[in-house]
Amino acid sequence: METLEFQAEARQLLQLMVHSIYSNKDIFLRELISNASDALDKLRLATLQDGLEADTSDLHIEIEADTEARTLTIRDNGIGMTHEEVVELIGTIAKSGTAELLTKLKEAKESPELIGQFGVGFYSTFMVADKVELVTRKAGTEGHGTRWESAGEGTYTIDDAPDAPVGTTVTVHLRPKDEEDALYDYADEWKIKEIVKRYSDFISFPIKMRSGEQVDTLNSMKALWARPRSEVTDEEYHQFYRHISHDWSDPLEIINMKAEGTFEYEALLFLPSRAPHDLFQRDSPRGLQLYVKRVFIMDDSKELIPDYLRFVKGVVDAADLSLNISREILQQDRHIQMIRRRLVKKVLSTIKDLLANNPEKYATFWREFGKAVKEGLLNDQDNQKAILDIATFSSTAGTEPTTLAAYVERMKEGQEEIYYLTGDSRSQVENSPHMEAFQAQDYEVLILTDPVDEIWVEAVPDFDGKKLQSVARGNVDLPKDKEEPEPEGDFAPLLTFLKEKLEEQVKDVRLSHRLTTSAACLVSDTDDITPALEKMYRAMGQDGPRVKRILELNPNHPLVSGLRTAHETSADDDALPETAELLYGTALLAEGGDLEDPARFAKLLADRLAKTV
Ligand code: ADP
Repeated sequence: METLEFQAEARQLLQLMVHSIYSNKDIFLRELISNASDALDKLRLATLQDGLEADTSDLHIEIEADTEARTLTIRDNGIGMTHEEVVELIGTIAKSGTAELLTKLKEAKESPELIGQFGVGFYSTFMVADKVELVTRKAGTEGHGTRWESAGEGTYTIDDAPDAPVGTTVTVHLRPKDEEDALYDYADEWKIKEIVKRYSDFISFPIKMRSGEQVDTLNSMKALWARPRSEVTDEEYHQFYRHISHDWSDPLEIINMKAEGTFEYEALLFLPSRAPHDLFQRDSPRGLQLYVKRVFIMDDSKELIPDYLRFVKGVVDAADLSLNISREILQQDRHIQMIRRRLVKKVLSTIKDLLANNPEKYATFWREFGKAVKEGLLNDQDNQKAILDIATFSSTAGTEPTTLAAYVERMKEGQEEIYYLTGDSRSQVENSPHMEAFQAQDYEVLILTDPVDEIWVEAVPDFDGKKLQSVARGNVDLPKDKEEPEPEGDFAPLLTFLKEKLEEQVKDVRLSHRLTTSAACLVSDTDDITPALEKMYRAMGQDGPRVKRILELNPNHPLVSGLRTAHETSADDDALPETAELLYGTALLAEGGDLEDPARFAKLLADRLAKTV
């Protein structure tokens, strides 16, 4: 017998379980049954796909309670584990996100539902147990099985189990009953039945329990996706959702699909009500569960749903696929591609329905997942229009987000383009000098502050025939409400002078109709990429030449007209080049940009101020 130490993270997690304040301790049984069910799926799959020889005619889960000894035993005749697997899978936590879970759990003591959200699995038994034994034997291996035992503290023991049957048996030694601590008597038959019914009814293998001479099957084993919606309670859907998603909150929306005819499939999809912590992590598991005629084939099947809808959870059960289909074949399978197209359409139309009929749910959905959905504007050309229809954006017209269709309805007479400005935050965008003329003349501007917005606006040419136009790019040509006073004097020499002095920084200097109160601003040329986009490309390691922008001046601003007069009277005044630099720096700061040499700018400004005090 060997005594081994839990890996550090595992130890911390166990500590949290042992001292858990999580009130719903019932879930430990759900987790053990879920593991057993997975093990049965894996065994069946191994016989179908890897040619493993094993008897799969009686796959089941067995629960045995001993009220005297206060033990609860959960047994499955599934795939089992080797000695190495026990050490690796039970002694460590390989799951990504565990470190994050630990920090969050420590920070948010009052928010223990996180335990459910992350699905801590096997370790949750230590919420109710003072000792856990696990005896297992891997299917298809010779020799002995393995016995594992731990009291949930720093160490566990591991030993040979000579006559262990194939599969896994977990024996939970229950802690003394303590209702204060929400510890029920988990050896009690009715309690076990209640938990199984509530959390595990849909498990597709029989969960059996012996009482006296009689053996009861506790679950109905009905595949939820195959049952008509009217016959399934919300509670049942929610439990199923939790089983497949490890999310503790209820889903926002349930989507049923059924296709008959030449290619049959059923699907049960869920829109979650909140984004998982790893929505934007590349390596996070994503995709749907694939079944073939009720037989589980694989988790995380990415082929069934595009990346921008990666938050959708659920099951697809296809009737006409081969049971031993591999991931590689899946990618090319025509049927799978067809299912995927239909699922996308259905998900998008469901969101459209929410937008039209349930604004509150829609708002929750878009807040949590809008950023991901907008990636589809880049990656899913076929559905670009459908995505634009369901997207909403902040706007200068009010505090509530608007659809593009509503924006178009509100467009002023003579306005032909949809105006937007990208930036880091609403306030930065609202206060940007680029907005001045638009605000002064009451043109609505969309405020786009998600990083993905910088990219998709480049890829979407128009909405409903109306071009998307950045207010920080190109010339503005707003139909004028009122005649502006023509600037006095000739600006050409000043513009030439500034262009020469600021040659390193900008590609042109010109007068602007864009500004009403600021002296200057920077704009991108019509076909150039924006600074934010340039920054993103650089962050991704794609270095290109620096894109210079255009400095626009407000001829009606006293600083600009004063500068013109100064340049006219004494073109080689020493102070002029510095003023040019200050003017450029101020324009950059006003839009939230980064100065190349902030110390130099501060010094120039302080010197100049010193002359005025
Ligand atoms: P999760 O089930 O979320 O992966 P667990 O901590 O519950 O996390 O289990 C860790 C791993 O141990 C499982 O992924 C599985 O590989 C293995 N395991 C747990 N229970 C069983 C079982 N009854 N039979 C076979 N393997 C199991």
